[in-house]
Amino acid sequence: MKRFPGMTKQRIFSLFFLLILLYIAFFTGENRQQPDKRTTTRLLMGTLVSITTWGVEESREREGVKAAFAEMARIEGIMSRHQPQTAVARFNAGLPHQPQPIPVELAQLIEKAQHIQTISDGSFNPGLGKIIELWGFSTDTPPQTPPSQNKIDEWLTHFKSGPGLVLSQIQPSQPTLGLTNSATALDLGGIAKGYAIDRAIEQLRKAGIENGLVNAGGDIRGIGHKGDKPWRVGIQHPRETERVIAVSQWPNRKNGDMALVTSGDYERFFMDQGQRYHHILDPETGYPAKSGLLSVSVQADNALLADGLSTAFFVMGEELTRRRYRESPGVEVLLIRQDESHWKSEGFQGEWLGR
Ligand code: AMP
Ligand code: MG
Repeated sequence: MKRFPGMTKQRIFSLFFLLILLYIAFFTGENRQQPDKRTTTRLLMGTLVSITTWGVEESREREGVKAAFAEMARIEGIMSRHQPQTAVARFNAGLPHQPQPIPVELAQLIEKAQHIQTISDGSFNPGLGKIIELWGFSTDTPPQTPPSQNKIDEWLTHFKSGPGLVLSQIQPSQPTLGLTNSATALDLGGIAKGYAIDRAIEQLRKAGIENGLVNAGGDIRGIGHKGDKPWRVGIQHPRETERVIAVSQWPNRKNGDMALVTSGDYERFFMDQGQRYHHILDPETGYPAKSGLLSVSVQADNALLADGLSTAFFVMGEELTRRRYRESPGVEVLLIRQDESHWKSEGFQGEWLGR
């Protein structure tokens, strides 16, 4: 069974590189002897996930980190499209036009995804499974050419013929999900990692860990502090994977709690005739979003919101993002344009390093 779609050798290599990069970012200018710091890394949800704690007694740390990884694996076992027995995969394989029972937890996440869909005027859409499949971004080895215009047009016509996903929570303990058209399928790839990060943090807290950081391939949430300093993490250069282009730290957040999630056109893509085709699709066109951005990093109180909004803002583009980001309280944005210049919102906590 292929558990990690998109995990080509090249991708695994770049993920390891990212890990090294983040490691360097943690240690910049500091004493390398840090007996209070412990990091454990696992391959989960198609990426490298590392959990770092600070100043935690060893057995408590081991217990908390184990529970956090187990929780992320459990969530992957519900939300992944790629493992055949998950609730999402079973829903997608079921009969269209017939509401199916789904787990309460899945219904709650879909509700959150639909909230982001609403506040982004549809730029974020959890029902893009079919078009993502058509582009091949859901497979281990994406095709190296785009689908035909005809196929995309056909998809668009069907997709726009109805609202797509219909979630019913009339009985909250027995939710159902239906589809209004055959061009829709569930894909929570734009938000599930953020949710899993939040749940992992919850497990750390439950184990009494107050200072920690969960990092899933550069999508991060931290709690507490790193000794007497705030957590400090690097944001990857969108074109030079081995470089940090900005550093994010959040000295002013309550209890040091904050999430930082980045969406970019470099995470999963192929080139065809000099043109880059990436994995964040615009529901309006059926094509990879062409909003003039290379990446969008979002800081928020929780990783779920930061994850959903970074994907949404990437599709929305700079102008709309700048007009609308304040509607979500506590959200700050750093975006990088095509020419590698940037804009960051006033409250974004961190610094631009540049080239
Ligand atoms: P992220 O890396 O968080 O920006 O999410 C990208 C993933 O979300 C893709 O790999 C797809 O699974 C899914 N996705 C792509 N485009 C969209 C979109 N417009 N709205 C919601 N999810 C999307
Ligand atoms: Mg996202």
